[in-house]
Amino acid sequence: MTTFFISDLHLDASRPATLRAFLSFINGPAERAEALYILGDLFEAWVGDDDDSPLATAVRDGLQQLSTRVPIYLMHGNRDFLIGDDFCMDTGCVLLHDPTLINIHGRHALLMHGDTLCTADTDYLAFRDQVRQKNWQQALLAKPLAERRDIAAQLREGSRKASSNKAEDIMDVTAAEVDRIMAEYGVDLLIHGHTHRPATHAVKHGTRMVLGDWDALGWCIRWDRHGPELESFPISPLSSS
Ligand code: MN
Repeated sequence: MTTFFISDLHLDASRPATLRAFLSFINGPAERAEALYILGDLFEAWVGDDDDSPLATAVRDGLQQLSTRVPIYLMHGNRDFLIGDDFCMDTGCVLLHDPTLINIHGRHALLMHGDTLCTADTDYLAFRDQVRQKNWQQALLAKPLAERRDIAAQLREGSRKASSNKAEDIMDVTAAEVDRIMAEYGVDLLIHGHTHRPATHAVKHGTRMVLGDWDALGWCIRWDRHGPELESFPISPLSSS
């Protein structure tokens, strides 16, 4: 049996090809899987579990159908940290702590989104501490849905202006932090996303596998009895009519 790992799809109404690729993935390969792990940033932005947009509805419906057959584990990313209990109830997804230790085919692996590995980005880590606080989140979620959508759109516009190349403005992981956390959890395999630098690296304590963001290519780690493998597949753009 195969377990799949994906992350950083950044699903958004402005990128319908990515949504179609995701729905094809969960209605295709994932349907025959032992489990699906989504390691953060499934959404470009998540404004609250009451989001009734067509995109949110399509994703909820797709996950809900899959979860009746395949366990789905979901970790927050830095974009969709507001995913909450209602979303998990609606979809059957199980929310994972970051980091989470798993055992597949007798081998341990540590799963993370990856943002906390980028310890050089101190401004971001301070922002992360703020937005992960319950009272900050409650204050935001108390605002009307339309206002939360405006705030998310402003944040996205701000980050677009700050950099024309998304991958470039995300710092890479700090090697010492990778070594530290792998030693802390006693693992020889770390799987994460976030950096948009898909690769399999040899590191001090074993192997660091990095998932890719879904753009022209989709990325997954396929883990079967032969072990974990990073794979990519083309995402065809929707033909404009
Ligand atoms: Mn991220």
